[in-house]
Amino acid sequence: MTNILIKDGTILPCNQDFKEIITPGYVYIRGEVIEAVAAGEPPERFLNESDEIISATGFVVIPGLINAHTHLFQTFIRGLADDKPLLQWLASATWPGALAMTEEDFYLSALIGYAENLKCGATSVLSQDYVQTSKRNMDRVADAAYEIGVRALLARGYADRDPYKPEFQETPEVVIRETERLVKHWNHREGGRIRVEFGPLIPWGCRPDTLQKINQLAQEWDTGIHIHVNETQPEVQMSLDEYGVRPVRWLYELGILNDRWQLVHCVWLDEEEMDIIAQTGGTIIHNPVSNMYLASGIPKVTEWRKRNIPTALATDGPGSNNSQDMMEVLKFTACLQKVGTLDATALLPEDVLEMAYHGGARAMRLPGKIGRLAPGAFADIVLLNLKRPHIAPVHSPASALVYNANGNDVDTVMVNGKIVVRNGKLLTVNEDKLIADCQRAAEKMADRAGIQSWRSKNWF
Ligand SMILES: [Zn+2]
Repeated sequence: MTNILIKDGTILPCNQDFKEIITPGYVYIRGEVIEAVAAGEPPERFLNESDEIISATGFVVIPGLINAHTHLFQTFIRGLADDKPLLQWLASATWPGALAMTEEDFYLSALIGYAENLKCGATSVLSQDYVQTSKRNMDRVADAAYEIGVRALLARGYADRDPYKPEFQETPEVVIRETERLVKHWNHREGGRIRVEFGPLIPWGCRPDTLQKINQLAQEWDTGIHIHVNETQPEVQMSLDEYGVRPVRWLYELGILNDRWQLVHCVWLDEEEMDIIAQTGGTIIHNPVSNMYLASGIPKVTEWRKRNIPTALATDGPGSNNSQDMMEVLKFTACLQKVGTLDATALLPEDVLEMAYHGGARAMRLPGKIGRLAPGAFADIVLLNLKRPHIAPVHSPASALVYNANGNDVDTVMVNGKIVVRNGKLLTVNEDKLIADCQRAAEKMADRAGIQSWRSKNWF
């Protein structure tokens, strides 16, 4: 067990009051957990018992960010499907690229995705991986999380009916058997740093009876359920055409919505659907950059907040963003609502942090344990450099974080009490080798898929 003391920093604890600032202050970490957060000089015993003391002068000390929705295999297709709406984006590069990926590609694409998330300050990543072309793809995504040291919740994605692309469809029996295998293997190892849950992709690719079955198993196995809903207008129309009701209403009528559900996007909810989500207790996961990138629309985040619907923030997959920088997501979250409502006060920096941290913790199914700096919480901590020309001078740390900072300002990252990024450099993988391996493997994937890719013969 390692004890670490972070002292002389500006601390944003992000407990109840997001305006609270402790400066100067210290955080004492015993093993995997935060033991103390307080103002002023640390007591003598913390100084004596520390294996390492980090001076945080000039840094803001924040909880690790929580990226509540991504698809990490898409690191290999970023830039291949730009400038298309969702359904064309899927058909032109995302599906063909995914079909051409090997097990090793799933490992490498996840590893570089986690590397980017960590370096940009996200200590928790919720990735929905829905390409089960080999039985081991999900295992390799989990192996990469284990090795790099990130906290991960992996939604095992599936589709089990038309019109979702037949090559990706599985039988309900395989979905349940494989999810059970992964849950049993991962969810209780290393204190649950890596966990697996159900990931039905979209209502239009999922059979109702399977959804009811997995909802029952999620209670038994104590897991969550992660699904895209109401992302685009054509998808809402598909539900109206097939079932005569909108997608969230359809899930509600199946009798399955509850607080285990993570509802991704929710761009096109009507009033009744918002009321249903508020009553049944699901968490919405908002992806502002992806919603702009795919021209999906502007979600009514301010309406969700009026109904107290828990909301987490996320990048979405690297194929529709195209980065994994959660610092960038903070700014877009505020700005998209301002322009959507024509109200400059629609979301304040503190509102954005509340969603990113407390909504994110709820999406990860770890409320109170991550997304705050408090005794008893996991030591998932980021030190961010405020002494930069695009940030200083600082009058409000929350404003500086949301509107000025970006992922490159992250200096130190700790997950579960272990330092994984120091001085902006990853400690757990060889970054140069990883980038070179991924470039080579992604070019081969594009070749196999017959997708035209930019070539860089002597680039690395
Ligand atoms: Zn997605």
